[in-house]
Amino acid sequence: MQQSNDTIVIGGGISGLTAAWRLNRAGRRVLLLEASLRIGGAIQTTRRDGFLLEHGPFNVLVRSAEFRRMLHDLRDTLPIVRADREVARNRFVMSGGKLHRAPAGPGDLLFNSLLSPPATLRMLRGLLISRPRRDDRETLDMVARRRLGDRFADTLASALSVGIFGAESTDIEFSSCVPRIARIDRNARSPLLAMLRAKHDAHESEKIRGLVSFEEGLAALPRTLADELGDSVCMDSPVKSITRQNDGSWGVQCARREEPTVLTADNIVLAVGHEAAAKMLGPIDDELSGIIGSVSGSSMLVLNLGFRREQVRHPLNGYGLLAAGSERTCPYLGVLWASSVFPHHAPAGYCVMRVFRGGSRHPGCVEMSDAENVDAVMDNLRETLQITGDPALIHICRWPNAIPLYAPGHGEKIRRANEIADRIGGLYLAGNYTDGISIGSCVERGDRIAHQILALSPRAIESNQTGVRQSSPTMVAQ
Ligand SMILES: Cc1cc2nc3c(=O)[nH]c(=O)nc-3n(C[C@H](O)[C@H](O)[C@H](O)COP(=O)(O)OP(=O)(O)OC[C@H]3O[C@@H](n4cnc5c(N)ncnc54)[C@H](O)[C@@H]3O)c2cc1C
Repeated sequence: MQQSNDTIVIGGGISGLTAAWRLNRAGRRVLLLEASLRIGGAIQTTRRDGFLLEHGPFNVLVRSAEFRRMLHDLRDTLPIVRADREVARNRFVMSGGKLHRAPAGPGDLLFNSLLSPPATLRMLRGLLISRPRRDDRETLDMVARRRLGDRFADTLASALSVGIFGAESTDIEFSSCVPRIARIDRNARSPLLAMLRAKHDAHESEKIRGLVSFEEGLAALPRTLADELGDSVCMDSPVKSITRQNDGSWGVQCARREEPTVLTADNIVLAVGHEAAAKMLGPIDDELSGIIGSVSGSSMLVLNLGFRREQVRHPLNGYGLLAAGSERTCPYLGVLWASSVFPHHAPAGYCVMRVFRGGSRHPGCVEMSDAENVDAVMDNLRETLQITGDPALIHICRWPNAIPLYAPGHGEKIRRANEIADRIGGLYLAGNYTDGISIGSCVERGDRIAHQILALSPRAIESNQTGVRQSSPTMVAQ
C-alpha cells in the first residue's frame, strides 16, 4: 500500500532544508529530495592545501528572527564564527580607477574621498529628510537618487548592487530586493531617524548580529540540517514531474539513483531554482509556470585566489572592494578579502581573496576557460593590490543563471504566483527567486512555509524528547 508523506520538499538548498528541518522538528513526516550528490545547493565549501574555499556564498548577515532562532537551535552542534566588526565595516569602492574607503555610517561622511563636499551635503540632507516612496516598482538606482543624490547613486549604490545582487542598480526593484529598508523608505521622511529607532528597538535577545560563518565554512550549515533530518533526506533523487492525484494528494515522479520512483504527499514545497520550478509547474498551471519562467537570472563566477602574504603589498585591511557602476572596463565586480574577514580561511603566511565576475558587465565569463578568467583579472589585481607573481592557489566556481534578477515588477509577479499556489492548495514556493536572494531571506521563507503547513494541517505526529523525529520515507518503485 502506498503510504503518504505529510510533505515532500523538492530541492536540498538552504530554502528546502529549512522548511524540511522545521517540519521534522515539529514531528511531521517529511521527505526531502535532492537531485545531486551534495546537499546545500549554492552553499558548498572545499578544504584544499590549508585553505577554506567557499564556492558560492561566503557569509550570512544575521538579520531575521528566523535565522537567529535556527542558529540558536543548532548552537550545540554548529558553533558560529563572527566576522571582526571593524574589518567588516572597512569597505572600499573602485571609482575613477582609484580605491576609496566607503563611508560606513553618517560619522564617516565628513572626511571621505568618494563624495565631493556638495555630494556629501546632499547625502546628509537626504538622510535627515527626504521624500518617501510612492511607487513600488522604483529601481534601486531611482531610490538612491531620490533619497541621497546622484553621486551616491553612481558610486556606492551601483557598487553595492552588483556586489550583493549581481545586477546593476538600474535593473532591480528596490521594494522586493531589500524589503526591510523598503519599509523604512515607504514610511519615513527621515531615514536616519528611522534607522536609529530600529536600532534602538532591536530586541535585547538579538545577541547574534553581523556577519557570520562556521569553523568548517558555510557548508557546515546545510550539512548539520541534513544530519538532523537523517533518512528524511534522499540524495541523487532528481524530481522529473509533479502531478495532482484524484484524491487531492500530490504525486512526485523522481529518478532515485536512476530508478523511477513515485511518491505521494499532502504538501509539496518546491525549493528549486526559478528555471527548474517553472519547468516542473508547466503541467500544473500555465500562468504560474509562465510567471516564474519570466524571471531571468544572472551568471556569476567566483575565483578564489591564494597568495603568499608577502606577494601582496596592500594591507587588505577590510572586507574588500567593489567596482562602481562607472568602472565598466574593470574585469571584476568586486574582490572580497576572505582571510581578512575570517583568518582561518588561509594557512599561516598566506591570504586568500574571492574575485567576482559576471552579471551584465562580464557576459560569457562562465563559458570562458579558467586560464582566460585568471588572465582577465590578474593585471588589474597586480596594480590595484600591488601583487607580485602568480597565485599560489586557484579555485574557480561557475554559477550560470544562479542569481535571479528582481527586475521592476518582480514583487507583483511573486504575489500573483503565491496567490495561484494558494488557490491550487498544498503547494508552496520557496527558493531565492521568491522573497530575497540572501541565505537569511531563504531561511526566513523556508521557516514561514513550515509554519504555514503546520498551521493549515495540524496533523502533528508525536515527536521524541529532543523534538527531533526521524520519519521513514515511503517510496514505491515502479
Ligand atoms: C556566487 C554566489 C555568492 C553568493 N554570496 C552570498 C553571500 O555571501 N551571502 C548570502 O547570504 N547569500 C549569498 N548568495 C545567495 C545564496 O547563496 C543563494 O541565494 C541561496 O543559497 C539559494 O538557496 P536555495 O535553497 O533557494 O537554492 P539552491 O541553493 O540553488 O538550491 C536548490 C537545490 O535544488 C536542487 N534541485 C534542482 N532541481 C531539482 C530537481 N528536479 N529535483 C530535486 N532537486 C533539484 C539543486 O540541486 C539544489 O541543490 C550567493 C549566491 C551565489 C551564486
